[in-house]
Amino acid sequence: MSESKEIVRNFIEEIIEEDIRNNKHQGRIHTRFPPEPNGYLHIGHAKSICLNFGLANTYGGKTNLRFDDTNPVTEDVEYVESIKQDIRWLGFDWEDREYYASDYFQQLYEFAIQLIKSGKAYVDDSSAEEISARRGVPTSPGENSPFRNRSVEENLELFEEMRAGKVKEGARVLRAKIDMASPNMHMRDPIMYRILFTPHHRTGNKWCIYPTYDYAHGQSDSIEGITHSICTLEFENHRPLYNWFIENLDIFPSRQIEFARLNLEYTLMSKRKLLQLVNEKLVDGWDDPRMPTLSAFRRRGIPPEALREFATAVGIAKRENIIELSRFENIVRNHLNKKAIRTMAVLDPLKVIVTNYDRGVEWLEVENNPEDPASGKRKIAFSREIYIEQDDFMEIPSDNYYRLSPGKMVRLKAAYIIRCDQFVKDQNGKVTELHCTYVPESRSGQDTSGLKVKSVIHWVDASHSITTEVRLYEQLFTKPDPASFETIHEIINPESLIILSDARLEKDMANAAIGFSYQFMRKGYFCLDNGNHDGKLVFNRTMTLKDSFSK
Ligand code: ATP
Ligand code: MG
Repeated sequence: MSESKEIVRNFIEEIIEEDIRNNKHQGRIHTRFPPEPNGYLHIGHAKSICLNFGLANTYGGKTNLRFDDTNPVTEDVEYVESIKQDIRWLGFDWEDREYYASDYFQQLYEFAIQLIKSGKAYVDDSSAEEISARRGVPTSPGENSPFRNRSVEENLELFEEMRAGKVKEGARVLRAKIDMASPNMHMRDPIMYRILFTPHHRTGNKWCIYPTYDYAHGQSDSIEGITHSICTLEFENHRPLYNWFIENLDIFPSRQIEFARLNLEYTLMSKRKLLQLVNEKLVDGWDDPRMPTLSAFRRRGIPPEALREFATAVGIAKRENIIELSRFENIVRNHLNKKAIRTMAVLDPLKVIVTNYDRGVEWLEVENNPEDPASGKRKIAFSREIYIEQDDFMEIPSDNYYRLSPGKMVRLKAAYIIRCDQFVKDQNGKVTELHCTYVPESRSGQDTSGLKVKSVIHWVDASHSITTEVRLYEQLFTKPDPASFETIHEIINPESLIILSDARLEKDMANAAIGFSYQFMRKGYFCLDNGNHDGKLVFNRTMTLKDSFSK
């Protein structure tokens, strides 16, 4: 008996399955991820990467990585390298299909000649201001350029002069001859080529005319035989133009399908604004763990599997929407909970002297991860001097405070019950030391004391611990909708980074490695920072243990 499981398909999968049923392109499925190398990839790009590579995986197709590098002014090889690293980290492989729109400059140029020859493109000498004024507004027709009716010969000659570097920047452009009265502004004789005397990071000084994004993008898809060209909604209005080029050049008919871009609370996705954060040093580079970039997520310890799961979980929408940050965080926590090694770390230490302990060092056994029996156990030291968190002691306890205070008892995780007998203060009134006694019969797992205590706190042994720096991150913005504010300065959270410089960690953490997740008990998930700190260990908080939004 066959078991049928109902699979819910999104609208893109429906389109693809119908194409397969109709044997369109002989059932071939070929997608691409087309970044412009003008910034680092962010979580919105991750959504697009997972979608494009995911569809190819599901339907036995292929995915190209294509850099849409048509604007030498904003692009850089630094971005190309980071993009490749991030896609690999996310878990996808474009194999040998790494392409560049700039590889097609010659072909695109020949397509332009073809359009000129068929009377469908012309050289315009108007200034940028004149072109923009004549385009008009969507509600009324634009006006034809006085250069619109140049002969084919003249256009070929003038375009050749542009290509040969004989014309100065801004003096001429090549435009498609479509319809200045179209209600779709993109069809009002869009610009195909502009003159830019800027060397390109791949073609050097070979070209001084560069195709516009709108002219290059669709044709690049056709050149690569992309069957399903998936992009975000803002390109819906560009589709008629891309189809016009396909028809008039008689090239491979890639089908464009639009979906709503991913928007996430508290998160900016505009590359322009992210670049501003970096340039104005409001963050410490593109991979600052407060950034929404993939390199920042990697540095912060977010597992790539969690990003992939999130991308699938949010689905594909046809309308703009904003995803709650808690959805992302919960998925990340689920992954971390399964794989993070538990350890004790005291972030804000307070020394405790166990006055009646005179047995040197004792080794206690603790589980590395109760969620994963295969992770085994480890031994931790306990002796006369230990550290606990400052806020696990209150001189005058408030209501419902069940941790340490004078005369009160708590359990030390995996160790003993202790009672606070005395405390020592410095000149400023800060508590600097506690004197406690432990209950010898209360050892965890062998407790015969009969005592009941309400709290268990974490601790580390003073002489078997290391001092490290720990960085706590909060949202970079104080508002859930940062994109709707004019300037980012008014919504920057001044407390988005807190540096704790004398945290105490279990001694074994000296061997912590990049790529591993640790749960600092009661404190959150952490990872070793991958930056250069001259041999000093720095830990980043990946995430708190609880949803900070459901308080
Ligand atoms: P730009 O303004 O520089 O074009 P961009 O965010 O569109 O910025 P691209 O490098 O062009 O950046 O994006 C590459 C691909 O990622 C495109 O197909 C784009 O549609 C997609 N993409 C970008 N942002 C998102 C997002 N927030 N959600 C889903 N897909 C996105
Ligand atoms: Mg883009």
